[in-house]
Amino acid sequence: MFAYINGRILPEDQAFVSINDRGWLYGDAVFETLRTYGGRAFKLEEHLDRLEMSAGLSAIAIPLARAALIKEIDRLLEAESSTQDIMIRVVVSRGVGGAGIFPTEAPDPTLVFQLRSLPGYAPEVFTKGWSLMVAETRRNDPNAINPLIKSGNYLNNIMAKREAVEAGANEALMLNREGLVAESTVSNFFLVKNGNPVTPPISDGILPGITRETVIKLGNKVGLNVQERSIDLAALFDCDEAFLTLTSAGIIPITKINKQSLGTEIGPVTLRLRQAYIEHVDDFIRGEE
Ligand code: PMP
Repeated sequence: MFAYINGRILPEDQAFVSINDRGWLYGDAVFETLRTYGGRAFKLEEHLDRLEMSAGLSAIAIPLARAALIKEIDRLLEAESSTQDIMIRVVVSRGVGGAGIFPTEAPDPTLVFQLRSLPGYAPEVFTKGWSLMVAETRRNDPNAINPLIKSGNYLNNIMAKREAVEAGANEALMLNREGLVAESTVSNFFLVKNGNPVTPPISDGILPGITRETVIKLGNKVGLNVQERSIDLAALFDCDEAFLTLTSAGIIPITKINKQSLGTEIGPVTLRLRQAYIEHVDDFIRGEE
């Protein structure tokens, strides 16, 4: 697949950034992961809003204005001319700098767009669901690396994912410093209790997921009362249904948390939201969204 580095479109195996790039040296970078449906980037403006927020909070300058970014992403998609749905990873690092940590030593940010295949989700993921394990590794405290920033440093999420996979679960559920549910390693978390979806508020230290926001809106539209409120462990283990939200897959049902089964079937509220999400994507593909 093709990649884009600072204005140049190259085959992936010829696309390199410097070993002195601060994204590599320090994780001094921000990123976004988008996907296409029907050849067009889905929720592009929302992802670019979040990229700008991440870059702003990290004092990294995005080298192109919004309209130019969109033009360059379109140029890369045209070069690839894939008939398949694909992922688009956007990375802005602080750029090449000296050996020191002080950021002004890197005057020119590095802008990379990387096209990738979609992760292959087996059909059973959506019919049987995934298992979650509550990880020991906590989500970053907002006073450390604020989870509002989609930072190039994902080490804490990687550690949590390792824990979960080594324990035989599909994914990790991460708590914040207070022990409240935050999010999963690359997705947001919802539970359902008495027919109402509940998801932690942004203030509990999570990434403001674009799929999360879409699901909140769709849920309210189909008559569910979606609540943003803190989830403690007691509420977690008292839920009727649970699911994750993320760009690549939309909604992934959860049927097990730690040793506790949530049933062998996907719950009715999760199914309803998945249907609403699929219809929302279909509207986008038809150009009606
Ligand atoms: N939380 C984290 C930590 C993530 O990395 C992601 C993936 N970007 C999400 C949540 C889900 O966000 P989105 O719905 O925008 O893909």
